[in-house]
Amino acid sequence: MGGPSQPFYLNAAAVGSTRLGPHELLERLCALERAAGRKPSRIRNGPRLLDLDLLLYGNQIISSKTLTVPHLRMAERRFVLAPLADLVPGRVVPGLRKTVATLLAMAPASDAMRVGAPRPRARF
Ligand code: AMP
Repeated sequence: MGGPSQPFYLNAAAVGSTRLGPHELLERLCALERAAGRKPSRIRNGPRLLDLDLLLYGNQIISSKTLTVPHLRMAERRFVLAPLADLVPGRVVPGLRKTVATLLAMAPASDAMRVGAPRPRARF
């Protein structure tokens, strides 16, 4: 959103618990992106092989040079809010003081977004 046009991509959300602090967790996410083969790019919001964002971290509000939590643009992105609302619709987003479900209902419509699970390509 707000970047160059790009092919459809898959978006998902996950909820978990960790002993890592928020900056350590961000480092791990960046390491996973690199391990998946993501190369540094100067194009903002351009196509990326893998993009892992930290949307929320408990009830913390974090604003540092490298990390902003809640994620800066999550409230305006249906493709972020929709999978998150599947998991934690009633979760209040700190700072915005609205639930994920409310933010989703308020978020601008997105014609390009398709909701659904991908078809599995392989059987195990
Ligand atoms: P991108 O991978 O293009 O979404 O941007 C990654 C950069 O955004 C990283 O270098 C982080 O330092 C910074 N950043 C700031 N806040 C966050 C956040 N909540 N989640 C992920 N990256 C963040």
